[in-house]
Amino acid sequence: MKKLLMSLLLIFCIGCTFTLLNETNRNISAKSTKETIMIDAGHGGYDVGAESNYGDYEKNINLDIALLVGKQLKSYGHKVVYTRTSDSVSWSNDNTEDLQTRCDLANKKNADLFVSIHLNSSVYEANGYEIYCDFNNKNTVKLSNSILKQLDQLDYSTNRGLLDTNETPLYIVKNNKMDAILIEAGFISDDSDLYYLKNHTDNIATAIAVGIKKSLNE
Ligand SMILES: [Zn+2]
Repeated sequence: MKKLLMSLLLIFCIGCTFTLLNETNRNISAKSTKETIMIDAGHGGYDVGAESNYGDYEKNINLDIALLVGKQLKSYGHKVVYTRTSDSVSWSNDNTEDLQTRCDLANKKNADLFVSIHLNSSVYEANGYEIYCDFNNKNTVKLSNSILKQLDQLDYSTNRGLLDTNETPLYIVKNNKMDAILIEAGFISDDSDLYYLKNHTDNIATAIAVGIKKSLNE
């Protein structure tokens, strides 16, 4: 009887160890599959981007949003890299070289995803947020819709939807090896959009980060 009990106990212990090992393996593989995300603050340095009626530069608001998006994604356990973290840029004043360097940086860092952050501008009355992505790429369409859904919840402007880069080619979507999207978070030329972008930057950034997280985790 004692022998039988000992045997049963041994089988139980082996079972427990096996389950524990399995659990550990699963945790390790879950961690190692976390995507590296390149956050690209549009423009910068010599290139100010669009300008508001009050002298705000797009490049600065893009950077504020980008850094906060990165911070949030890091807190979710993602590896985050940036094309720039300040107004000083590592590329020349040539526009093509500027954009190619951003793609090269993402490739060098083995990024799985490239998210470019910009603001729109128009001489006509226009507001809202929209996202450029390749409509033939299911991943980026899903990702972009997930971000739009989160931005909708902020209720700060109009959802202008998705734009297909097969119709409006974008350098960073076409020339990046990994999935890439470009977010236009609002119109710098619109007073209401501008107010929200400047005063609730953290809300915009959180919505983008949550949209990315949800899409990647699904
Ligand atoms: Zn821009």
